[in-house]
Amino acid sequence: MNDKGECPIPDTHQKLKEATYFLGKCAEHYHVPSEFLFNLNAFIQALRNITFILQSEPNRPEAFDLWYEKKQEEMRQIDLLRRFVQARNIVVKQSSLKAKSTARSGVFRGRRFKLGMLHDVPLFAPSAWLLERLQANVGFFLDEARSQPWEQFGVERVWIVEEIGDTEVLRLCGQALNAIGVLVEEAHRLFGAGVEGAEVELDMLRTQTFLETDNDPSLIIKWGWSDAV
Ligand SMILES: [Zn+2]
Repeated sequence: MNDKGECPIPDTHQKLKEATYFLGKCAEHYHVPSEFLFNLNAFIQALRNITFILQSEPNRPEAFDLWYEKKQEEMRQIDLLRRFVQARNIVVKQSSLKAKSTARSGVFRGRRFKLGMLHDVPLFAPSAWLLERLQANVGFFLDEARSQPWEQFGVERVWIVEEIGDTEVLRLCGQALNAIGVLVEEAHRLFGAGVEGAEVELDMLRTQTFLETDNDPSLIIKWGWSDAV
């Protein structure tokens, strides 16, 4: 905010919030592939638009061009940001990113994987479908009443998008968003306003695991468990 209590770069700031929103949606839909991928595409585009909008903010101070040139040079040196720019070009040209998913599925204690196997997942298979298959194929591993509290079937999923990197993609999204967040923070100061930087942190264990009680919370009561994990 500046001394009038206004944000000097409202469009840029709003676009940063939009990217943050879609990152949250990716986490929320981590286990439903088509929704996950729609939101990932939206995130990638919103992230890119932050810098486009920043460059065309009205009332740019005189020092802006030199500052931005320097920042652009810095950003070009960051491999991860370059990859996001390339990924955005693929998304905008209406083709698809090479996304794939692997999972560990089996018995979990709390949100920790206890026993089971690691496998590839068909691209559009939701985790709920994987859970059903576990219940049907290896249901005998657990007694019907689930007498060990918080021992249940579950899936721990990993999304990887080749164009962005060879590790879990939401963490990479979070890193890229935080890097651009720092730029937007600096831009606020350049435009004469302070801003509180907010780092985005995702609870990845919570995001990546999908348990029977996530699929159907009424099971917590049915099995007589208490305290959420
Ligand atoms: Zn602002």
